[in-house]
Amino acid sequence: MKNIVLKMNSQQINELKHYYQSVIKDSASPSSLFVAKPASCTITAYQSGKVLFQGNNCEVEAKKWEHLQTEMKKTSYNKRQSTHLPKSISTLSVIGSDEVGTGDFFGPITVVAAYVNKKQIPLLEELGVKDSKHLNDTKIISIGEQLRHCIPFSLLSLHNEKYNELQAKGMTQGKMKALLHNKAISNVLKKIEPEKPEAILIDQFVEKETYFRHIKNEPVIQTENVYFSTRAESVHLAVASASIIARYAFIRHIEKLSNKAGFTIPKGAGATVDIAAARLIKEKGKNILPQFVKLHFANTHKALQIAEKNK
Ligand code: MN
Repeated sequence: MKNIVLKMNSQQINELKHYYQSVIKDSASPSSLFVAKPASCTITAYQSGKVLFQGNNCEVEAKKWEHLQTEMKKTSYNKRQSTHLPKSISTLSVIGSDEVGTGDFFGPITVVAAYVNKKQIPLLEELGVKDSKHLNDTKIISIGEQLRHCIPFSLLSLHNEKYNELQAKGMTQGKMKALLHNKAISNVLKKIEPEKPEAILIDQFVEKETYFRHIKNEPVIQTENVYFSTRAESVHLAVASASIIARYAFIRHIEKLSNKAGFTIPKGAGATVDIAAARLIKEKGKNILPQFVKLHFANTHKALQIAEKNK
C-alpha cells in the first residue's frame, strides 16, 4: 500500500481535521489525534506531528497539504508559494469566498463572497482585516460591521431546516457548499458590473474538478481565473474579508437562535452542544431540533440520550 508522511504543527493539523471533519472516524490508537477516511485514503494524524496518508488516493490527498511543509520552513507567512496560484495574486483585484458553520452542530452554513479592488487593499489592512481565524468574536463583530459598508459582497445562509431537508435527500455538504459559493460569487459578479475581477479565489473545500462537477447544472458566470487554495484567507484580503463577514453573520445567527432557545447556544460540535441540545429537547420537545441543528451529526443521538437520561 502506498503511503506518504507529512510533518505538521498543531495548527496545521487542526486545519486538516476541520477540512476532513465529515469523514473523521474514531481512532483506535492513543498516540493518534484523529483518523480521517476520504475516498480511497486513510489519514492518521499523530501527536508527534506526523501525518500519515495511506491508500491508492493518498498522493492526491497529501498534495493538498504539501505546501504547508514548505511554509513551515519559511520564516514569512506571506511568502508562501502555491504553485498553481498567480505569483502576484495578493496584489490583484479579487473576489474571494469562504464559509463558516459547516462543522457547527447549531446554526446555518453561511457563505460569503466579497470583492476587493486592489485600490482598497491599504484600507482593509488599516481596518485590521487579516486571517480571520486569529480574530476573536469581538474583533470579528467590529471589523465585520465596518466591512459591510466598504466592499461589495453577497451573504448566503442555508438555514438548518433547509439543510436537513437537502441532507435527507442525499445531498452532500460539499455539494451544498459548492452551490452556495457559486451563487454568492455570481451575485458579486453582477453587483460589480461592468468591473471584472482579475481573479476569483475560493477557500478550498474540495478539488477544483469536484467543485465544477457539483455546479455543472447551474448558471456559472465565470470559469476563467478561478483559483482554489487551502487557507486562502492568508493569500488575499478578499477571502479574509469574506471570512470575517461570514463569521460576523454566523455569530448573529447564533445570537438569534439563543434568543429563540431562551439560553446561550454554543458553537462547535463538542460535548457542550450535546448538553445544550438536550436542554432544548427537554424544554421544547425534540421536534424543534430541525430548526436549530444539523440533524445528521452524531451530536443528535448524544443529545437524545442525555435528554432521555435526565427525564
Ligand atoms: Mn474556509
